[in-house]
Amino acid sequence: MSPVFDLHCHSTASDGALSPAELLMRAKDKGVSVLALTDHDTTFGLEAAAASAEQLGICLLNGIEVSALYANQCLHVIGLDIDPKHPVLAAGLARQSELRGQRARKMAEKLAKKGIADAYPAVRALASTGEITRSHFADFLVQAGKAKDQQDAFDKYLSKGKPGYVPTQWAELDEVVAWINAAGGVAVLAHPLRYNLSHKWIDRVLAAFKQVGGVGVEVVTGRSSPDDIRLSAQLALKHGLYASIGSDFHNPDNPWVELGKLAPLPAGLQPIWQLFGSAVQSLLP
Ligand code: AMP
Ligand code: MN
Ligand code: MN
Ligand code: MN
Repeated sequence: MSPVFDLHCHSTASDGALSPAELLMRAKDKGVSVLALTDHDTTFGLEAAAASAEQLGICLLNGIEVSALYANQCLHVIGLDIDPKHPVLAAGLARQSELRGQRARKMAEKLAKKGIADAYPAVRALASTGEITRSHFADFLVQAGKAKDQQDAFDKYLSKGKPGYVPTQWAELDEVVAWINAAGGVAVLAHPLRYNLSHKWIDRVLAAFKQVGGVGVEVVTGRSSPDDIRLSAQLALKHGLYASIGSDFHNPDNPWVELGKLAPLPAGLQPIWQLFGSAVQSLLP
């Protein structure tokens, strides 16, 4: 049987609901053979994930999802098979973590002006020892009775242009790709259709991404429609990028997104796992 790949998911190190150990147990239960844990701007969960993966017999790739800017647009870059201890990557991520902390304080100030007090200590507690994300603000707003669910919180307060939104000077795309490459990883542009970019712009983004050393693009995600997959596959082919696949799993409450539950990669694409080492190659038919 072919191995089941899931190369994008989150733990409590960022905005996932499950601890790395819980996530690995769920991945085992769902039949995942190769998992990459890709928390937002942090490698904090990888050590615990590796210990669980070893016990459960899952092949774990060290991963990350880094927030980056290109022409002032925020993009998410997945780094796969990285060395989390590499000093170039670690220094870059330390800066991103600082930016997350500063942004959270500014967001709390903006919400306070809208009459919603004490957001900072609340999100700090919700994120526990992990990175604070907008998802934590969404949960806080739901708990405070200001939104009916996460989506509503984003629509009312947290999306670009809404009262709680704070633009952030994430590292530039070329820097982020350079960190990932320095750490021995491969850089994959996450969910290319989720940025609401025109065809012209997504082409520009992918050309620039490849130009600075990016090698892959996500073609199948947990929420991709058949049309999304067709379009993303065309983008991969057009730009000569390897194809990746990942659920972007965050929590068990979302019935639509599950670890390892992904449509197959369309034929004719170069799967990103061709670039991984012998531990992965030995699982391939
Ligand atoms: P951040 O990187 O802190 O800006 O947070 C981005 C995260 O917020 C994404 O990875 C998603 O998990 C979540 N997110 C973004 N937009 C939405 C939305 N419209 N509804 C629910 N969650 C969202
Ligand atoms: Mn997220
Ligand atoms: Mn993302
Ligand atoms: Mn993600």
